[in-house]
Amino acid sequence: MSGSIRLNSEALLAILNLSKDATAIYTGADIVVQMANDAMINSWGKDRSIIGKPLLEAVPELAGQPFVGLLQDVWRTGKTYEARDTAAELKIDGKLQTFYFNFIYRALLNEHSETYAILHTATDVTESVQNRHALEEVRQAEVARTRALRESELNLRLVIQQAPVAIAIFRGPQYITDIANQHALTLWGRSEEEVLHLPILEAMPELKTQGISELLDAVYHRGEKFYFTERPVNLRRDDNLETHYLNFSYEPLYDADGLINGFITIGTDVTEQVNARLALARTEEMLRFSVDAAGAATWHMDIATRNFVFSEGMKSLYGFRPEEYAGYDELLARVPAAYQKILKAQIEKTITNGTPYLNEHPVKMPDGRERWVRAIGKRYPAEANWTAHFSGLVIDITDEKLEDMRKNGFIGMASHELKTPLTSLSAIIQVAGLKLKDSDDTFLKGAMERANNQVKRMTAMINGFLNISRLESGKLIIDKETFDLEALIRDIADEISLTATHHEIELDLCGYLGIKADRDKIGSVISNLLSNAVKYSPPGTTINVKCGIEDKYVQVSVRDEGMGIDAIDIKRLFDRYYRVESSRTKHISGFGIGLYLCSEIIKQHGGKIWAESILGQGSTFYFKLPLMG
Ligand code: ADP
Repeated sequence: MSGSIRLNSEALLAILNLSKDATAIYTGADIVVQMANDAMINSWGKDRSIIGKPLLEAVPELAGQPFVGLLQDVWRTGKTYEARDTAAELKIDGKLQTFYFNFIYRALLNEHSETYAILHTATDVTESVQNRHALEEVRQAEVARTRALRESELNLRLVIQQAPVAIAIFRGPQYITDIANQHALTLWGRSEEEVLHLPILEAMPELKTQGISELLDAVYHRGEKFYFTERPVNLRRDDNLETHYLNFSYEPLYDADGLINGFITIGTDVTEQVNARLALARTEEMLRFSVDAAGAATWHMDIATRNFVFSEGMKSLYGFRPEEYAGYDELLARVPAAYQKILKAQIEKTITNGTPYLNEHPVKMPDGRERWVRAIGKRYPAEANWTAHFSGLVIDITDEKLEDMRKNGFIGMASHELKTPLTSLSAIIQVAGLKLKDSDDTFLKGAMERANNQVKRMTAMINGFLNISRLESGKLIIDKETFDLEALIRDIADEISLTATHHEIELDLCGYLGIKADRDKIGSVISNLLSNAVKYSPPGTTINVKCGIEDKYVQVSVRDEGMGIDAIDIKRLFDRYYRVESSRTKHISGFGIGLYLCSEIIKQHGGKIWAESILGQGSTFYFKLPLMG
């Protein structure tokens, strides 16, 4: 190794030890440690026994680390090497640890520019590097946290922007608008530029006068929360203030230290709903007012609570003075017991099945008079702003009813009065008929027969009126017995054939048919249907009567080939006094009571009566009765 020199190590060491910096001197390509001050020895964690040994032997843990290689380069090239903050793994107290150094491998050159020694000075910067690392970590954590925060804030903003309600966030003691979504801007009647990053009360001065600024102070300074429903707030719309109804809330927002740093508001504009409801209430109010003003009698019953409300008119109709209280029970008490039962049953039926409600009943007035009323009502299902209810109106039909009763009484009386002379007339004609039996006077004989038939027709007619009057006054009694329906049909058909000589009556019967019913009344039904068939069909046509059993019922039909009945009339045929008005029926006499009576009789037997017809082609009338009565 040319140019290497031996140094006075003692003197050198003394000098080197003066320096705090770790210093060592190496020579040779295998980097023999010629000298190392205490600082260096300590930094290696070794003792002076290593002096004179190649570095790798002295500090074996350096194997695999770049230092020895670097030193050899310096030795070879004569170029000084310098590095900072370089990590080195050193075994201290038997434990491999990482230290950081700033160091220089200075090549000491002779006059031939050959390296004769390497001066290694190193400063332990472990602490400051570690501090820096720690700081760096903190900084990175901070960066990550800020990013996460920014991301979550972005997400929050996105959520707020897309929320279907108005949301805004305000920060700081001036209530600076930090976020306001489109719904909020629309609700405020402001553009983003008009409010964003500005104190809200300055951006929207109209709020100051509406108690809002006090509210905000309470939220911001005292942490109070507010929830409002349908609170009216005047908002700017096209340079005017407009009252809007809002559902909204204010809630404080807290920072990490639990201090309030802002607040959030969430709201919706419910003006339309409120207005619709108010309009409805106003209409209702007006309706009620006009109902009362007109003295109309109406009621309203909430189906869920069964609570009745009556108009003033209704109260007075039932004989109550305006200052008197009248609820359902009070009103009902004025209805005679027999009618109360029907009335209650009908109300129940309407409430449960929705059947239209129609009821006529007398009312006993406090002064003893009787008043008749007709009530018409309906069940209304629950809707958006309505609960299910049952309501309707009542009208006074006393006059109509009295008129009816008078008519009925008159009819009853007249028919009754007519019956007596008619019975005598019938008897006289029959006796005369018998006397003329053997006479040759064919004219007289024929006349007597015709007279007898006319008397029978008249009797039938008068019986009809009598029955009507009995029916109306509830005196039509059904008297059931078991009899053969077929025989009854035959008898009646024979009797009608006697007068209806221009029609053929064809019977399609089914043999003996015992049923339990009122024989006379069923007889009059059949007789009515048959005479109508004769009456409303031209001579030369056929009338067919059929009977048969179906299930537990017996069914009778009377078919004719007559003028038929229009569909609109068919439904009303069985109404009292109903007659089809047409040029064809104009000349056919009748009172429109026959079918009404028939239907009442059949109904009272628990049966059913109906008709089918094609105009101009004939009609068929049917009825069915329960076999067992
Ligand atoms: P009327 O005394 O008028 O015959 P009804 O009550 O027996 O009274 O009949 C009511 C109406 O029904 C009649 O006026 C008539 O227009 C119609 N009608 C009844 N039966 C028939 C039928 N078989 N063919 C056509 N129309 C009929």
